[in-house]
Amino acid sequence: MSTPTPLLEVEDLHLNFRSMRGLVRALDGVTLTLAPGEILGLVGESGCGKTVTGLSILGLLRKPQAEIPQGSIRFGGRELVGLSDAVMRRLRGKEIAMVFQDPLASLNPVFTIEDQISTVVRLHKKVSRREARDAVSEALQSVGLPATEAILGSYPHQLSGGMRQRCCLAMALSCGAPLLIADEPSTALDVTIQAQVLKLLLKLREHLGVGMILVTHNLGVAAQTCDRVAVMYAGVVVESGETADVFKHPVHPYTKALYSCLPQGKKVDELATIPGSVPDLLDPPTGCRYHPRCPHAFEKCVAVKPEVTDVGAGHEAACHLLSSGRAAP
Ligand code: SF4
Repeated sequence: MSTPTPLLEVEDLHLNFRSMRGLVRALDGVTLTLAPGEILGLVGESGCGKTVTGLSILGLLRKPQAEIPQGSIRFGGRELVGLSDAVMRRLRGKEIAMVFQDPLASLNPVFTIEDQISTVVRLHKKVSRREARDAVSEALQSVGLPATEAILGSYPHQLSGGMRQRCCLAMALSCGAPLLIADEPSTALDVTIQAQVLKLLLKLREHLGVGMILVTHNLGVAAQTCDRVAVMYAGVVVESGETADVFKHPVHPYTKALYSCLPQGKKVDELATIPGSVPDLLDPPTGCRYHPRCPHAFEKCVAVKPEVTDVGAGHEAACHLLSSGRAAP
């Protein structure tokens, strides 16, 4: 029996930004796969490349400011790297959709919710105004909002934060995109609304079969929502696997350090931090990018980039401790 094509395959993706100070090596060989209907969490500190990975998949980082010197992004078996902006514009919204952290900043303040969602529908589907309105109502209902005049005719500032994020999700899914990239979709919301939005993502996956990449710095959100996680550090995936496996049995020193920083049940003076800070990617560390902060670093870590090692059941990590058979102290 042939294996079904993954919805998304990112392989050895490198991405550089051109800046006044030189080349910023933002992604250094990112490899990910996502099956249809699966939720993959991208986790890590701010600046580790999670959002940049999402924007690269959408083709929003383009020359001359950004370039992909190496690597591949295949969506449903089709190579996206190198596609023209016009082709990517047809894919965005229809095949791959994205929701951002701040729904108020994502929505246009001078158009009503109906106008904004129906514009997306009419851009991708040849439908009449009446049919577009029906599609908007259906999209709003799929995210748990009543398609009443009060909602359809509202401007973003007239809705609550949770309602605005639901509208963004309705817009993202209004054309039936099978892949959703959700970039910190609950971070700007208060804690009860956060839980509602995360439940909604799970419901959308269950009912619509949408595959999702969930970008989050919150390990708790990833643990509750994702089937698999990929832990990123300085533009590299350092560990990936089934969520429960990675969080219960982390093998990479960075994942262990992140986990030790969780506040669970600790007093303020017991809270842990990871010494040092995320490196400047204008001049990234040689070898393993984590070596300046890693308490287990040895000579090889400074000189050689670690290969990915399979530690079982699809759980992988890139660390010389694993590939050289040394156990972490
Ligand atoms: Fe630490 Fe070396 Fe492993 Fe990098 S490769 S995480 S520096 S032990």
